[in-house]
Amino acid sequence: MEDRDVVIIGGGPAGYTAAIRVTQLGGKATIIEKDAIGGMCLNHGCIPTVALARAVELIEMGKNAKDYGITYKDMEVDFQRMMSKKETVVRTLVSGVKQMLEAYGVEVIEGSGRFISPSQIEVHLKDGTKKELKARKAIISTGSRYPKVSFSGGVEKIINPMEALKLKEIPKSMMIVGGGFIGSSLATIFSRLDTKVSLVEESPRLLPQIDKEIVTILEKEFKDNSIQIYLNTRVMSIAAGKKDDLSVLIDHKGDEVMIEAQYVLMSEGREANVEGLGLKEAGVSLNEKGGIAVNQQMETNVAGIYAVGDVTMEHMWTTVAYFEGITTAENAMGQNSKIDYKAIPYWTPTIPEISSVGMTEEQALAEGYRVKVGRFPFAGNGMAAILGQRTGMVKVIKEERYGEILGVHMIGPRTADLIAEAALAMRVEGTPGEIAKTFHVHPSLSEALWEAARGA
Ligand SMILES: Cc1cc2nc3c(=O)[nH]c(=O)nc-3n(C[C@H](O)[C@H](O)[C@H](O)COP(=O)(O)OP(=O)(O)OC[C@H]3O[C@@H](n4cnc5c(N)ncnc54)[C@H](O)[C@@H]3O)c2cc1C
Repeated sequence: MEDRDVVIIGGGPAGYTAAIRVTQLGGKATIIEKDAIGGMCLNHGCIPTVALARAVELIEMGKNAKDYGITYKDMEVDFQRMMSKKETVVRTLVSGVKQMLEAYGVEVIEGSGRFISPSQIEVHLKDGTKKELKARKAIISTGSRYPKVSFSGGVEKIINPMEALKLKEIPKSMMIVGGGFIGSSLATIFSRLDTKVSLVEESPRLLPQIDKEIVTILEKEFKDNSIQIYLNTRVMSIAAGKKDDLSVLIDHKGDEVMIEAQYVLMSEGREANVEGLGLKEAGVSLNEKGGIAVNQQMETNVAGIYAVGDVTMEHMWTTVAYFEGITTAENAMGQNSKIDYKAIPYWTPTIPEISSVGMTEEQALAEGYRVKVGRFPFAGNGMAAILGQRTGMVKVIKEERYGEILGVHMIGPRTADLIAEAALAMRVEGTPGEIAKTFHVHPSLSEALWEAARGA
């Protein structure tokens, strides 16, 4: 049995960030990874999605270029090249992470890890052999996966987002089930590639966690781009349909409707990767969502074993996984670091993009706050006019008593970058007044936040 300092099972964003932080604090970190360093985010999730979102943004820019006097003749979409560019981006970033781990001296073991006791981990190496490690501290960062589809009939054409990002050809038609951030992003991508997209969501609106006013603008954009939206709708059955299609029976506001689609994409319902990890042998407990239960230090019920990222089934975003990785590593190295989920910025790479931080107006009112709202449309912003992307708005919600910002919501161009200022303002319990008193570059998109803050 070989001794190790901190052993991390899973080399996704949570795991590799933890490993780097451990070494920064003077410890020795070992990652066990059974598939590919970078995990779901780099290999199958965020990066491939956003690389394709960039490709369809270029289609959009090509179409708009003629307004600027530039005509691209014979613009055509080469889907194979689009996918291969996406793969190049993935490979570049994965190799960057590998180099960084090497530079920090992190040991990476290729294989599958499982506990055989609270301090012992058995690794099934890729070459078929086994190795046993004795770990002073262990971090579980095994992430999540999409469950197997439970409908009968045409199963190979019922796909999850990771499979959708690897399709070999542009689908003729696709039903996307789930109008959350992944479903809405993929609806944008495939609709811009001329796939006939229908989007089914159980709630009364898409992106139920996002401010209603913002989502209303997105829903209109989707309709204008021929995305058929079915709200308050459930899928009842999926069966083989005409030709190669699937027949999907949906309950749309109490009416049964049959829709034919070449693919059905189930975009929701990730599950924690906890099977085969030897959690029983380690004595580690699960939470009610089926993820690993942790406290504010990201420690499980077993001292010295931590869990981070999607495997906890809380805040399943890389944005958060990075922070959890850092917190865990600091605790594994003897510090007392606590995770604080205040002011998490969220982003959806739709066209236009949606970003938000903090409470929606509805949530703030439901919690009894007296609120004041400042809004500013991108139609009034100089840079948005220059870019030719004037759809959207910024909305700042503050509570009236102390003036603290409760939430900021945006739909429009490059909001993923704009939301950072709002997140920082909320983090330091800032007021719209402080944003309003800060110089903002002119002309820039950030002036829209400045104006909305002034409005609040
Ligand atoms: C389509 C899509 C788009 C997304 N877009 C975004 C986005 O834009 N922004 C964002 O913040 N988040 C996004 N996410 C979510 C993000 O991908 C996850 O929240 C993030 O990857 C979680 O990181 P993690 O390290 O916890 O787990 P993962 O990234 O899943 O990594 C876990 C790793 O553990 C390995 N592993 C599992 N079991 C074992 C074992 N027994 N032994 C060894 N290794 C093991 C796996 O192979 C994997 O590499 C997206 C997700 C999807 C599906």
